[in-house]
Amino acid sequence: MLALNLERILRRIERARLSYNAHHIVSLVAVSKYQSQDEIRALYECGQRAFGENKVQDLRLKYQALNDVPLEWHFIGTLQENKINALLAMDISLLHSLDSLKLAHALQKRLGEKKIRALLQVNAANEASKSGVAVESAKDIYIQITQSCPNIILEGIMSIGAHSDNRSHIEQSFKLTRDVFDSVRDFGAKTLSMGMSGDFEMAIAYGANLVRIGSRLFARD
Ligand SMILES: *Cc1c(COP(=O)(O)O)cnc(C)c1O
Repeated sequence: MLALNLERILRRIERARLSYNAHHIVSLVAVSKYQSQDEIRALYECGQRAFGENKVQDLRLKYQALNDVPLEWHFIGTLQENKINALLAMDISLLHSLDSLKLAHALQKRLGEKKIRALLQVNAANEASKSGVAVESAKDIYIQITQSCPNIILEGIMSIGAHSDNRSHIEQSFKLTRDVFDSVRDFGAKTLSMGMSGDFEMAIAYGANLVRIGSRLFARD
């Protein structure tokens, strides 16, 4: 089942990226937040290497249990300041959810000699339930982080599409995120992380080059 799900998702990503631009490369993060270590291991055996978790405690357990496998871990959830040390104790490939200047400063303070790759999360749908900086202040905050946090390697923008059944609302949130991304390209942004199970093709049509897919990948139908 997993192998077939992965194959289907990769094929859909391939089709979406080709219709956007033949030179556009899209990477997949398998969101494993509801999966056990056995399922992660099984998907790894199908060829998937990058996995995403949204809770530091869960990530730590899976990170330890799977330390014999060369996985690439992504942190995609809200990071509380009191969990920063626990996160930094692990070797994380990319923090997608840097969601405020205050968090960036707290992170910078605890990084010491370490460096971390990160994306600035934008609340493009302007939803109270979501973290992230406002679209209007995103460029300014992005620049401030690059200037005041030398140990944070800021590589781009992340957003979660609007929580809506209305496709045009979702589309609008991707468009706004893309505009923010374009505005910070001159400051080193190269990764645009957006798109989940229900909307990743639309996200790719707006230039996403990193998609985060969970439920569709691990579905049992
Ligand atoms: C859970 C989650 C996803 C994956 O969502 P699915 O709809 O299961 O594909 C992607 N990004 C974030 C930040 C998540 O929390």
